[in-house]
Amino acid sequence: MSKQFHSRRKFLRTLSGFTGLSLAPNAFSQINTMPLESGHEQPLASAKKIPLVSHQEKQLDFLHLHTGESLSTTFFSGNEFVATEMSEVNYLLRDHHNGEVFTMNPELLNLLYDVRSALGTQKPFHVISAYRSPATNEKLRKNSNKVAKKSLHMQGKAIDIRIPGVDVKDIHKAALAVKGGGVGLYTRSDFVHLDVGRVRRWGK
Ligand SMILES: [Zn+2]
Repeated sequence: MSKQFHSRRKFLRTLSGFTGLSLAPNAFSQINTMPLESGHEQPLASAKKIPLVSHQEKQLDFLHLHTGESLSTTFFSGNEFVATEMSEVNYLLRDHHNGEVFTMNPELLNLLYDVRSALGTQKPFHVISAYRSPATNEKLRKNSNKVAKKSLHMQGKAIDIRIPGVDVKDIHKAALAVKGGGVGLYTRSDFVHLDVGRVRRWGK
């Protein structure tokens, strides 16, 4: 077992201890051994607390077009975002202008996952821009009227992407269907802006 794997297991155990999720395995073992005949079942109320999806893994792939760095990550496992993976995501999605790393909003990862699932593709997201420090945002704003003063990029809630071989209009359509936040279409620059702010749309 690699050291990294070992430490992750340890981390997940620690995490589950804090969140009270350690109750779940017991609940499952009770269900698994539940007799079919009546008389010994657990009360229905305790069964109701068990989530329908007991163990879900969510995976994403990225290539950052400005740094050339790529990442394949299982960012969600069991009932939790995997903190060590999220750190790698945060690093990849840092402000590529000055290297500043920010904590990305985990819901953005869920949104990307849902959009890719809706498109039925396993291809990586090509990242044009993700986190933007206030300094970078201000610099970009001087050169473009498309950059918002209080951009959600500055809050780690937005990303500009494309997927190789997939029409940006199709990405736009899929993202609108997911209704996870704002969706901007930039056909001329060939990318889609996704954020986890209010549900809204713009661009052509
Ligand atoms: Zn954007």
